Amino acid sequence: MLIGLLGGMSWESTAIYYREMNRAANRSLGGLHSARILMHSVDFEHIQRCQHDGKWGECARILVEAGRSLKAGGASFLVLATNTMHKLADEIEEGSGLPMLHIADPTGDALQRAGHTRIGLLATRFTMEERFYRHRLESRYHFDVVVPDEEERADIHGIIYDELCHGTVIDTSAARFRQIIDHLKWSGCEAVILGCTEIGMLVSADSSPLPVFDTTALHAQAAVGLALQGELIGLKD
Ligand code: GLU
Repeated sequence: MLIGLLGGMSWESTAIYYREMNRAANRSLGGLHSARILMHSVDFEHIQRCQHDGKWGECARILVEAGRSLKAGGASFLVLATNTMHKLADEIEEGSGLPMLHIADPTGDALQRAGHTRIGLLATRFTMEERFYRHRLESRYHFDVVVPDEEERADIHGIIYDELCHGTVIDTSAARFRQIIDHLKWSGCEAVILGCTEIGMLVSADSSPLPVFDTTALHAQAAVGLALQGELIGLKD
């Protein structure tokens, strides 16, 4: 099946998706195999302005239109390459007419397989503070989801938009993330979700005081698994 990648939020992380998906396809199929992907990448400046001004309807309009273009191009399902914009997952799925592989699910499945129940969540303020994302993890997976305190959330949000989305990786910001993860560890968390698709640029399994579950890598790999499974069972191509 052709993967419909809805990206650009930011393009820095969409580039990681592209690489991860191709590597995952190649691991499964060998040779010179790569993933079959159709991408629609949006202009993130306008999107992030709308997010911060609370104009979510305008974001939905843009992403539904992008989703429709992926459907028209033959994509079988949508991969929305950002955690935050899953706030609009239902509208985008319904408006585009394509099913979506929700970003929280491959991570929820991996955490469940690893036997973790009390989980720290690092993400944008929207994802950490609103219900749309945590609720999915709590209701589907019965996790106890812990978010950092107010000052920590502000720092994480700033680092995401002011540094990582620009492709800037700074040592002091990596140290701040380590400190925040350490704090989550002392509040009883067993693992941490990198719940923003750029955080993997800054935090790695080696540098983290807790096991990390990176939504970008897990989402990209699950998308390839779904696409290849669809081909195997002769679903729509
Ligand atoms: N890529 C980020 C996320 O996964 C933040 C950028 C955005 O607001 O989409 O949430």
